[in-house]
Amino acid sequence: MTDPIVVAIDGPAGSGKSSVSKQAARRLGYGYLDTGAAYRALAWHALQHSADTSDAVAVVEVLGDFDYAISLDPDDFWVRVGAADVTDAIREPRVSDAVSGVARVPIVRETVNRLFRDLIAGSGRPGVVVEGRDITTVVAPDAPVRILLTASPEVRAARRSAELANEDAAAVADALHRRDASDAQVVDFLTAAEGVVVVDSTALDFEATVDAVIGVVDAALAVQETGER
Ligand code: C5P
Repeated sequence: MTDPIVVAIDGPAGSGKSSVSKQAARRLGYGYLDTGAAYRALAWHALQHSADTSDAVAVVEVLGDFDYAISLDPDDFWVRVGAADVTDAIREPRVSDAVSGVARVPIVRETVNRLFRDLIAGSGRPGVVVEGRDITTVVAPDAPVRILLTASPEVRAARRSAELANEDAAAVADALHRRDASDAQVVDFLTAAEGVVVVDSTALDFEATVDAVIGVVDAALAVQETGER
């Protein structure tokens, strides 16, 4: 079987990346890989072990018995660590606050990147929409479709606080900007690398953003097909 087509989508928190990528995957009949979920699951695992996630040595220690599984089905999405279903738990603010610490450790990134490439290769789907921070640059720099999904900081904060309706809006915005600043020290996900198409969702609603992404995919694959002929 030929390797699946990779649609690589990067962007900051609250850009709509996850929901847009999932819906694009549905429409394309592709798999969906949320790479942030792996970092979140590891942060959850570290917290279970009461490990200090700002300490790289402690993080590497818990990486040793990190038994992680994720669904690539956009209609049946789950994340597991060992026997525990952590699909919802990894979205908790305590995990969001801890995740940048684990994502900063180079061996963590190398380990999960290997995992991502194996998951993509074994997906059994014609393509996989892969979303994260370094997909267009590190995980799949040769992907035929590479997109940076952005939105203004204000719109991103508003979207995230709408998702976390029980949390204080100012605190949510604050946490999001802190996480972005911390993540930006590790990976530049705010500027598009060469050949990466920017989709700015600031003024677009959900469906229009999905349409824009599908438009980029269709155009890129048409160019690729012409080249192969
Ligand atoms: O996308 P999401 O907000 O769920 O990502 C959670 C965290 O995982 C990010 O804040 C970042 O620290 C890390 N991450 C990363 N590289 C990726 C995806 C996520 O460093 N490709």
